[in-house]
Amino acid sequence: MSILSISNLHAQIAGKEILKGISLTVSSGEIHVLMGPNGSGKSTLSYALMGHPLYEVSANKKSKIAIDGKSITDLPPNERARRGLFLAFQNPLTIQGVPIASFLRTAYQAITPSKEKFSIGDFNKMLVEKAQNLGLTREFLRRSLNDGFSGGEKKKAEMLQAIVLQPKFAIFDEIDTGLDIDALKVVGQGIGELVKAGAGVIIITHYQRILRYVKPDMVHILKDGIIVKSGGYDLAKQIEKEGYASINSNFKAPARNATQSVAGGQISNKVQNAESKI
Ligand code: ADP
Ligand code: MG
Repeated sequence: MSILSISNLHAQIAGKEILKGISLTVSSGEIHVLMGPNGSGKSTLSYALMGHPLYEVSANKKSKIAIDGKSITDLPPNERARRGLFLAFQNPLTIQGVPIASFLRTAYQAITPSKEKFSIGDFNKMLVEKAQNLGLTREFLRRSLNDGFSGGEKKKAEMLQAIVLQPKFAIFDEIDTGLDIDALKVVGQGIGELVKAGAGVIIITHYQRILRYVKPDMVHILKDGIIVKSGGYDLAKQIEKEGYASINSNFKAPARNATQSVAGGQISNKVQNAESKI
């Protein structure tokens, strides 16, 4: 059981404060959904969590990000990845000349403790199998990362990274945007697999349709850099029906309560289609 805790996170970019005190706690096996209008700071939050150097976390505001009580606030992204944090980008970058398979092998080795035995043969076998579960072929794995990929292929490639790297905590920034219904199902089930394996997940989304495949424990609404409301699945439904204007921004987010914490044994109940393979 691990805990990702974000407390009073303030972050700025180019001298402008975007995050104005975010506090959020995610435990292993929990699914938290983050919604909010365009420009409210959702991607900024994911970058700040991952340690993007452009996004400056304000030290004087006592902003803190910790995994199992150990601060990662000052660590570079690769160290955060080693501690089990993963981010699937909203807009993944293209890297010409770097095949997905090589990229993933390098990433996998970089976060795996050096004393663990690594076999390229075993890794490739595992990679091909996981890719096939997402409907991605061997040939696809030889292509340069995101080079000429369709929107859906980019999102599936991000999902593949998460599944191969098996993070403790994964953030999916609009992984469902632009996906057709079949791809959405595959990605939703991929998130389900991660949660079943014990990962804590933050899903940033505008739609509740991905929540058909994964049931959230909590839904949070971000407006202008702060969480203005937290609730259950119904809150996502309300937002989709009535829009963000229906949320009173003077609302103070409640403290975590008993309904939020999910013991390991309950994890499988929340993952729909638990038996189906991705
Ligand atoms: P969301 O993901 O919720 O749509 P973002 O986190 O992408 O919102 O953006 C929040 C605000 O931060 C926006 O006003 C955006 O213009 C600003 N911002 C984000 N990245 C940069 C950047 N690299 N330079 C300047 N402003 C930025
Ligand atoms: Mg965004």
